[in-house]
Amino acid sequence: MFMCICFISSRCPHKPLSVLVVTMSAKESKVHAFVRVKPTANFPQDMIKYGPDNKSIDIYIRRDVKKGVVNNKQTDWSFKLDGVLHNASQDSVYDAVARDLVSQALDGYNGTIMCYGQTGAGKTYTMTGATENYKHRGIIPRAIQQVFRAVEEHIDQSITVRISYLEIYNETLFDLLSTMPHDMSGDTHMAVVEYPQGVFVKGLSMHPASHEEDALNLLFEGETNRIIGEHTLNKNSSRSHCIFTIYIESHSRILSDAKYTASKINLVDLAGSERLGKTGSEGQVLKEATYINKSLSFLEQAIIALADRKRDHVPFRQSKLTHALKDSLGGNCNTVLVANIYGEAVQIEETLSSLRFATRMKWVTTEPAINEKYDPERMVKNLEKEIVLLKQELAMHDSLVNRSLVNYDPLNEIQIAEINSQVRRYLEGATDDIDIMNIRQIQEVFNQFKVILSQQEQEVEARLRNKYTLIDKGDFAAITAAQKAGLVDAEGHLVGEVDGQGFGIGVAPLSKPGGKKVKAKKAKEQLSPITRKEGLGSPVLGKDLDSVSPSRSQLVTSAKDLDVKEGLIREQDAASIETHRSESVPKEESHRPSSPPAKLVAFEEFKNERGSEINRIFKENKAILSDRKKKASEITHRLNLIKQEMDITKQALGAQKKEREEQGEYVNEEGQIIIDEEEFLLVMKLKDLKKQYRCDFDELRDLKAEVQYCQHLVDQCRNRLISEFEIWYNESFLIPEDVQEAIKPGGNIRPGMIPMNRVLCLASWVVSDPGLLVLLTSRAQKDEDEQERFDRLQGEVLPACPDSTSFYNAKMKTDQKHKYFRAMAALQQMHKKPGLITATVKNKPPAALHVI
Ligand code: ADP
Ligand code: MG
Repeated sequence: MFMCICFISSRCPHKPLSVLVVTMSAKESKVHAFVRVKPTANFPQDMIKYGPDNKSIDIYIRRDVKKGVVNNKQTDWSFKLDGVLHNASQDSVYDAVARDLVSQALDGYNGTIMCYGQTGAGKTYTMTGATENYKHRGIIPRAIQQVFRAVEEHIDQSITVRISYLEIYNETLFDLLSTMPHDMSGDTHMAVVEYPQGVFVKGLSMHPASHEEDALNLLFEGETNRIIGEHTLNKNSSRSHCIFTIYIESHSRILSDAKYTASKINLVDLAGSERLGKTGSEGQVLKEATYINKSLSFLEQAIIALADRKRDHVPFRQSKLTHALKDSLGGNCNTVLVANIYGEAVQIEETLSSLRFATRMKWVTTEPAINEKYDPERMVKNLEKEIVLLKQELAMHDSLVNRSLVNYDPLNEIQIAEINSQVRRYLEGATDDIDIMNIRQIQEVFNQFKVILSQQEQEVEARLRNKYTLIDKGDFAAITAAQKAGLVDAEGHLVGEVDGQGFGIGVAPLSKPGGKKVKAKKAKEQLSPITRKEGLGSPVLGKDLDSVSPSRSQLVTSAKDLDVKEGLIREQDAASIETHRSESVPKEESHRPSSPPAKLVAFEEFKNERGSEINRIFKENKAILSDRKKKASEITHRLNLIKQEMDITKQALGAQKKEREEQGEYVNEEGQIIIDEEEFLLVMKLKDLKKQYRCDFDELRDLKAEVQYCQHLVDQCRNRLISEFEIWYNESFLIPEDVQEAIKPGGNIRPGMIPMNRVLCLASWVVSDPGLLVLLTSRAQKDEDEQERFDRLQGEVLPACPDSTSFYNAKMKTDQKHKYFRAMAALQQMHKKPGLITATVKNKPPAALHVI
């Protein structure tokens, strides 16, 4: 068994939006075929013989009986059928042919009975019967009777019956029960249409029948219209096909089930099957005969195709008849054919033809199935009832466990707003937990988490956009423009960017030397010292610090242990101070100490004065880092303990399982293994431990990321502190003031930024070749120029359109050239006063220097 579910569109004229469920039956069946022999006084007993079980008919033709016999090769035929109805009463014919089929239709199966045969063979007699004689009434009135008797008997079912009566004449559809004024030229608005639940004739009127009489009236009315039509159009009923359909819909009265069955019984009186040649028709009649033959031969083709299992296409659409009968031939329908034959020798050719058709029909297989549908309105009502019942159950359950105030209705705006504020309080740490009320509330809590997260993301982005010009890393055009402007390097890193800590190319105001303090808002209380940017007397922390950091490698190679590193720095510095002191001590300085102080001492002084702010931030960052590290170590310790506990529990569980398996397991009805309480507790414990482990692990992961970040900032701070100290120390104690003065006019470098050993070599190089000093200073100058360019671009280029980049590049190059000439002029000036620089260097500077 399998199910086929079809959603029917509201375009279906028969039922607005309903769901059809056809349950396919695996049981295959064949079309049943009977032969009914018209009583005659001249029955050729030697020519037509019936099998002993009345299920076969044999035809014998003696050659000399009629010359030019149909088939001169074969003279005997045997046809196997489901029954031969010879001298059968209308009553017995109905019992054999229709009773079961009608009964099954009342259970939801579609059924079709067709009468086939030559004109006058008794098709109409079989199907409709004598309308004036009750005893001789045919299948249709008897079927109507059976249906309405069932309606009366099935008091648990509400059965509705509707009737339609269609005539197909010359490929035109006629509604024999049309309530419209008669237009016997054929209703052009009628058409055969296919819907997933079956084939319908659009425009065909459907007539409800509450009683047998109503339905019979409709039958007779149709018959009358058929005769009127005959006169009007000069047609003959034997040349048209008539399909009388009884539609049955059965709803259960007892169950409030939305499911119901809908079936139909097609009772088809086909046109005469006689061959054209034999009628000798001419003109209109010839045309009619051609049509009749054509549509019947299409019917035959469809039957042949249906019988051939290898064929997937059945040509139903070739004629109106086959199209209208598409779902009534084979498929999920009970189909019966009655071949009406004359029991006379002269009609033997047509008899053979009818019997062949009947045998072909028998090959068609069907899979009758109940047509079940769902009434959407009833379905909704049932579901509503179910919801009310479940709510009552829930209320009862709540009152039993003293949860009386729980509301399960959809949340209103006020309740949602309350959940939102609860979530916010939770995120801010103002509350530790959110009480679980019901599923709807839990879903809303998660939903609000999402809402708040997305709001925060937007806020952060808006803040960043407000402050910086952000470039999307995937936006190649923007990156290229930034590269052109020299803001990012070839790899897309910001110029001066610290590895792993990208930041936007900003237009934030840079602190000017000695300028005002620029305070960033605290993003988070705990991290404030790290994220805070405060201006110092000299270049500040944060990105400003990065932009003037001596080199990227200097920042990256920081040692992990801060104290050790600090110690190392102090040792190195102390050693270098010693060297410097012995090498060069300016003698002419009156306002400075005669010899520079030890670097360690100077460092302490620096930290208390000019470097106080940076030192404070450095210390605070170190404290935060140490705190995070401590926490991380605590969690690691806790994780190890949980892991140990988990291992022990797992072992215990393994032992329990082994014991259970050895002793034999209990299995309940659903096939689940029953475990004892001890094992159950262990399972629960392991579950809890795993949960705790996962939770701690996530926390540790987050902490590690934080530690890494803090470490990075601490390193940055330390390097900054050292470089600032170096500059300050050089400026304060080592570089002669006049040298400082000499370099200052260019304004591009600060003397303290030049490494001391280079500065101290300056004199001799300058004396021998003033150009060398320019080369020597060009690196520092370049750094400064880059910085300047960066500053200017941030301030000027970016807010303007990108097209201005070339303009500013050109301006920068001109400025650089100008500065170069100024520096040269200043050095030539110095060269004229040889007494100023007294220190001498024996060796020439390394060749590499020239390449800078
Ligand atoms: P068809 O519809 O096939 O053209 P009809 O049903 O109109 O043929 O039958 C032609 C005539 O034969 C009718 O007068 C009908 O009463 C009569 N007839 C057909 N079959 C029988 C039968 N089995 N018993 C009595 N009369 C019959
Ligand atoms: Mg007829």
